[in-house]
Amino acid sequence: MRGILGALCLFCALPALAKLPILSPLPLPEATVEVGGAPRKGWVLYTVRPGDTLAGIAARYRVDPRHIMWSSGLKNDRLQVGQEVRIPLVAVEEREPRVPPGVEVYRVRPGDTLASLAQRFGLSILDLVSANPSLESLDRLVAGSLLYIPRGTRGLLVALPEGETLVSLSQRFGLSPVAVARSNGIQDPTELRAGDLVLLPGIEARTTYQRLRAQQEAERRARLEAERRRQEELRRLAEQRRRQEAARQAQLRQAQARQTPGSEVRRVSYQEGGMRWPLASFRITTYYGQRGVFQRYHTGIDLAAPHGTPIMAAKSGQVRVAGWSSVGYGFHVVLDHGGGLETLYAHMSRITVRPGQWVEGGQVIGHVGSTGWSTGPHLHFEVRVNGTPRNPLAYLP
Ligand SMILES: [Zn+2]
Repeated sequence: MRGILGALCLFCALPALAKLPILSPLPLPEATVEVGGAPRKGWVLYTVRPGDTLAGIAARYRVDPRHIMWSSGLKNDRLQVGQEVRIPLVAVEEREPRVPPGVEVYRVRPGDTLASLAQRFGLSILDLVSANPSLESLDRLVAGSLLYIPRGTRGLLVALPEGETLVSLSQRFGLSPVAVARSNGIQDPTELRAGDLVLLPGIEARTTYQRLRAQQEAERRARLEAERRRQEELRRLAEQRRRQEAARQAQLRQAQARQTPGSEVRRVSYQEGGMRWPLASFRITTYYGQRGVFQRYHTGIDLAAPHGTPIMAAKSGQVRVAGWSSVGYGFHVVLDHGGGLETLYAHMSRITVRPGQWVEGGQVIGHVGSTGWSTGPHLHFEVRVNGTPRNPLAYLP
């Protein structure tokens, strides 16, 4: 009672205070009140060394780590070695800023969240935001920074701006200066200095809270959107890989389809005492049935070999044709092996047998050339049964 009376007396020392009207209950947005802002005395440029943490540097220079973040334009409290940070040096105060009784000063520890602290101290997040209106995020607390925890009366906690008094500040929020003084345990308002913390009872930093909530929601959406895009990109890449693999498998099957039937039959026919290859060394450039340069359907196989390479009879037989072809074979030989089986050798540079002549399997009958419809030296080799072309691979080893 004594204290309150004393306070009243002191208030009366200020002119017209007693007659102050209680202003509209709608407070001005708390954002219009300068919070925190300690007078600056200069800067220190500091280069981050291994092992440094923001909280550690802040403690060494006795500044709030958040002030270093603001001054250095840091987005978070992670530092990199070699990075230069700007440390704002605050004027040395004759005394620490006053903190109202019932407000606990808590130093944020790594892992603390607003939600966990609110739960621990039995407060709402809005209570915490109101006591710390300079908070910049509902999710990220800076380890080592100070957080004000109202243990009794809840309200907006602001640093008394330069040039303001407890009375003017109370008026701006539509509060009774007497009630504000009481809540802050103040008996002599003249003791208050700029920078001292004043609790404005019942005032909530709702605007700040809503802004932080909106920001939190926007960040959450941005994270979800980024994650959705990442998943989409992963799906797209997986689909691309699947298509490439399918195309590769199809190509493989096609290549096998071209060769497999021949090699399947070839094994059987060879066992039946089929034929020998007409060249000692070659490279197959066109298979039977494949679309070629001069034919829609290739009636034999092309074996590429240097010009002049000897061509041997694939099987013993009688020379039926040895000469020039008018239908693209150029110089060619047809051997009759009996039983309706014939072999044909085309595009020769030279023929060394005559029609009617008997040749043994392996005997040279001519040489590789590029006569007739041919784009380069090779042997076009055909097998015919009763006049119909067959896949030569089915008859060759
Ligand atoms: Zn050919």
